[in-house]
Amino acid sequence: MRRTFIKTSLATIGLAAAFTLPAFAQDKGTVGISMPTKSSARWIADGDNMVKVFKEKGYKTDLQYAEDDIPNQLAQVENMITKGVKVLVIAAIDGTTLSGALQKAADKGIKVIAYDRLIRGSKNVDYYTTFDNFQVGVLQANSIVDKLGLKQGKGPFNIELFGGSPDDNNAFFFYDGAMSVLKPYIDSGKLVVRSKQMGMDKVGTLRWDGAVAQARMDNLLSAFYGKEKVHAVLSPYDGLSIGILSSLKGVGYCTAQQPCPIVSGQDAEIPSMKSILKGEQYSTIFKDTRDLARVTANLVDAVLAGKQPEINDTKTYNNGVKVVPSYLLKPVPVDASNWKQVLVDSGYYKESQIK
Ligand code: BGC
Repeated sequence: MRRTFIKTSLATIGLAAAFTLPAFAQDKGTVGISMPTKSSARWIADGDNMVKVFKEKGYKTDLQYAEDDIPNQLAQVENMITKGVKVLVIAAIDGTTLSGALQKAADKGIKVIAYDRLIRGSKNVDYYTTFDNFQVGVLQANSIVDKLGLKQGKGPFNIELFGGSPDDNNAFFFYDGAMSVLKPYIDSGKLVVRSKQMGMDKVGTLRWDGAVAQARMDNLLSAFYGKEKVHAVLSPYDGLSIGILSSLKGVGYCTAQQPCPIVSGQDAEIPSMKSILKGEQYSTIFKDTRDLARVTANLVDAVLAGKQPEINDTKTYNNGVKVVPSYLLKPVPVDASNWKQVLVDSGYYKESQIK
């Protein structure tokens, strides 16, 4: 009956249907988007991109940033549940602290998508959309290995290692990926960690805080690099790389006499891109947040329509309770040789933002 009515009216109003249809599409409910912090540009881009794609698909959005404060994120998520969102998309600050709220969500039939960072310790995580996090670490380490010429037998070189926040599951994947490449060189003596600080318990950087990384680099330099020089620093994130480089510059690196060590990074943030073009930071890893937003919105759309969403990994991400079905995107290494092609030609940045 109803279908016949809609068909007839559309036929009658002809072209006007083109304007009427989006109005039908506009009522798919609200998506709660909980992001960790605005202190890093990538999360701002993630939030903006998701709002855009969800709107195009006919959803309303409730986007909140928790400024790296765990109780704040919990309160924001609980509030979204109370307001009756259809689905929660969460990039957790601490992957283990949301279980209670997620149970409430499950009780109300709200689907939960872990976004970029895995939510641990809860059965109420339906899907996970992210990048291949192990591969991020592999690429970071490869850029160091290639630039040092380790495959050509050069060395030994001194390296120091930094990890991400120990409450972020990704940090372990980045570190393990990087070590899968670096460890053989460390074992053979071609790479030397003078501080002997290895393992996430020693090299982790709480809340991905650049100031914490800078302070640790200060300590490493004064304790272990009196006469010796550091030739490379594994850094998992651009915000840390910038802190590490400030520390190095403070003791005379990054000059004509004493070039910067090879410092890696992640996220292709603008300050780091500028640093790469100045020849300071060496490399970064680009993760296209437009793709992550699109994949996430497609997945949500399918789940809410009762369809099977597209996933491409059902093995890797065990959250301690279950393996969460995941969609993994490909990270792309960036340095001074390919930044234009990867970041500008793809429309992610305008050249003027970087130069
Ligand atoms: C993300 C990285 C980011 C880091 C710090 C990680 O969970 O995957 O892209 O660099 O958090 O914000």
